[in-house]
Amino acid sequence: MDIFVLGVGEAGDPDFCNSSVAVTAEGFRLLIDCGHSVPPSLWRALPDPDAVDAVYFTHHHPDHCFGLVPVLIRWTDDGRRKPLEIVTTAEGRHQLTRLFDAGGIDPERSRQFPLVWRETPGERTAGRIGPFAVHSAPTVHAVPNHAIRLEAGGRSFAYSGDGRPTPEAEDLYRGADLLFQECFTLRADPTQPFHAAHEALAGLPERLGIGAVRLYHVRRDQREALAASCAGDGRMGLALPGERIRLG
Ligand SMILES: [Zn+2]
Repeated sequence: MDIFVLGVGEAGDPDFCNSSVAVTAEGFRLLIDCGHSVPPSLWRALPDPDAVDAVYFTHHHPDHCFGLVPVLIRWTDDGRRKPLEIVTTAEGRHQLTRLFDAGGIDPERSRQFPLVWRETPGERTAGRIGPFAVHSAPTVHAVPNHAIRLEAGGRSFAYSGDGRPTPEAEDLYRGADLLFQECFTLRADPTQPFHAAHEALAGLPERLGIGAVRLYHVRRDQREALAASCAGDGRMGLALPGERIRLG
């Protein structure tokens, strides 16, 4: 399993594009989230219109899904014919359909490739996306957010989306080889109840038996402090844009 980090930023970050990763196994590539500032990074890193087989949305805030419309338009212009799986909730599908309407995309006529809609796999029943066995779990966020765990080739990767871990999310992350965890601030901030803080994540890898944790979606004024706090921590550190991580 290969993880390519497209972006690590939060919604208003001027330097880092919105958080998004592309996960590949057996030649199948899954994009997790596609926020408003993701498209240029995606086009630079993966210019082939057929490069992505499926898109999973953790939730439907603009910095996690508003990039899909321009991406679909470019893939159409570039002659994509391959179907695209979109994995999200019923509410997420409804929102994306309205976005397509607002963006002037007629799903039946202007696109030359079909969209295959798939419901977010449940917490107990494993779903499949391409070669990946998939589970999800809710986090504490302002809108429903489904953290995801992917397993393929005996390796496991978990991605939180936004929000503090719930007990269900901790179960999802347990024993993963790698966890990408949203971490907005260094200290717990009572004005940010829907985001995780580094001090509340202390000991998480050891407690849940996670191989490594990468923190992302860090508030734009917190990166330096967070990096300093993680210095010397062998298991927890900041995710870096452009990083490629191979599991297995
Ligand atoms: Zn959010």
